[in-house]
Amino acid sequence: MSEKKDSKLSVLKKGNKISVLLIAVILATVAASVIIGAVGNAVDGARKKREQEEYIAGNDIRDMFAKKLTFTDDDPDTDSIQYFLTDSPNYKETGRIEVKGFMLHSIGAAFTNGKAMADQFGTSDFRYAGVHGFIDSETGVFYHTLPWDQQAWHAGDGASDYIGIEMCESDAGYYTDDYVFHPEDIEKAREHTRIVYEAAVKLFAKLCLKYEFDPMKDGVIVSHKEGANRGIATRHGDPDEYWENVKIGYTMDGFRKDVKDYINTKIVANLKYTPIKQILKKYIIHEKA
Ligand SMILES: [Zn+2]
Repeated sequence: MSEKKDSKLSVLKKGNKISVLLIAVILATVAASVIIGAVGNAVDGARKKREQEEYIAGNDIRDMFAKKLTFTDDDPDTDSIQYFLTDSPNYKETGRIEVKGFMLHSIGAAFTNGKAMADQFGTSDFRYAGVHGFIDSETGVFYHTLPWDQQAWHAGDGASDYIGIEMCESDAGYYTDDYVFHPEDIEKAREHTRIVYEAAVKLFAKLCLKYEFDPMKDGVIVSHKEGANRGIATRHGDPDEYWENVKIGYTMDGFRKDVKDYINTKIVANLKYTPIKQILKKYIIHEKA
């Protein structure tokens, strides 16, 4: 009896051991799959979070461009106004371009009013020229006259894949027939020139970001005069010669550096999200190794 009992017990014990083992295996399997699932979810969550951050960061940039580059008249925060010259032959007759760079011009007239300049170019019989916009030299406001990816007649066929921007000049002086500007009130002339220069730096910085172009790279930012020297633009001396006449010390090398510094200190430094900073640094800001 006792023996039987014992053997029964040992069978029971054996059975118990097996079922305990089975349960342990099942539990371990369940635990493992839970852990694998959790790790997977964590990895997935981290990836999703990163994607979300990148998306939001992308939105930062898109918002910035929507605000600052697509500009509407009713945006109180804007220093730029969309002012497409839809009646002008340039607007009606040219096609799309793949933007290669940006050309800086100066109007070559003792005149400060960007909107009036735009109006001048906006009539249906104005067949001579077109640009992507004019910067007013009293206010620094930019009048955006042609979509960025449309060809503008600003410096001949060789420059047709360049975005062309005109800076207004100063009315505190006059031009002689040899295209030389003579300042009468040099302080006032320099003030107009400074306002329009600083606005141009900001605008070109935004354009560099929009197209992911390095402002310091050869051929990305050129003046009309440099374009002429490179054989891609009609023979003009703007804005370099106007700057010389105003004796303000501006140069195109300085302009490109100011654009780069503006991107670094005013735009990239203020971005909240690291992913977009990394992207911008990779494409635009070449830091010293
Ligand atoms: Zn020009």
